[in-house]
Amino acid sequence: MTALRDRYLAELGIPVWRPRAAVPASARQEPAVEVETPIGTGAPPRDAEAWSQLEAKVRACTLCGLHRSRTQTVFGVGRRDATLFVIGEAPGADEDRQGEPFVGRAGQLLNAMLRSIGLPRADVFIANILKCRPPNNRDPEQSESASCTPYLTRQIELVQPRVLLAVGRIAAQWLLQTDSPIGRIRGRELRYGPRNTPLVVTYHPAYLLRSPLEKAKAWTDLCLVRELLSRSS
Ligand code: URA
Repeated sequence: MTALRDRYLAELGIPVWRPRAAVPASARQEPAVEVETPIGTGAPPRDAEAWSQLEAKVRACTLCGLHRSRTQTVFGVGRRDATLFVIGEAPGADEDRQGEPFVGRAGQLLNAMLRSIGLPRADVFIANILKCRPPNNRDPEQSESASCTPYLTRQIELVQPRVLLAVGRIAAQWLLQTDSPIGRIRGRELRYGPRNTPLVVTYHPAYLLRSPLEKAKAWTDLCLVRELLSRSS
């Protein structure tokens, strides 16, 4: 656990200081090992037709006013048979430009968080509640989230992940239909959707960039994700 924690902290740019005497020689010489979890490796994509229909629907969507200001829709990315499905809030400027979720600084941190539990970005599925960027990165309006949620629901239905990870207050509160502060709902095994899929809430990486001391709590949330994934394998 210590080695894993140290790797997580290193990934997040937090130096680990330990007295020399406390570091065993074997640990000092240990090569950096990239732990890969061979989850679902090599599986064929599921429901190709359903996915392309859904993508086309999202691309053409005009259900809310955000279609007027978007550069493009941000559908989601990753393995269509992923065991972990990460849910963020909405695309920002970088995502709107590139058409992919979590590609900015927050995305880099999210990638590091996932890597720290042995899940490269390419092995998970990542999407947002909203598929279009709200102007000036304002919070999503309820009506926008309501219009967009059926797309997310369908994505979850198709992927059939074993665990959902909601990052940030907005995504968590919307999915759970609660006003509870994120500090109360994070770090626990919750359930979501008709399949009662385990859901873990953690802090948004953009928040963690501003409040690095909270990274320790995010680490415990990620450990829970890892535990739930291994429990269900
Ligand atoms: N923040 C989010 O919640 N989603 C993104 O895709 C980017 C930043």
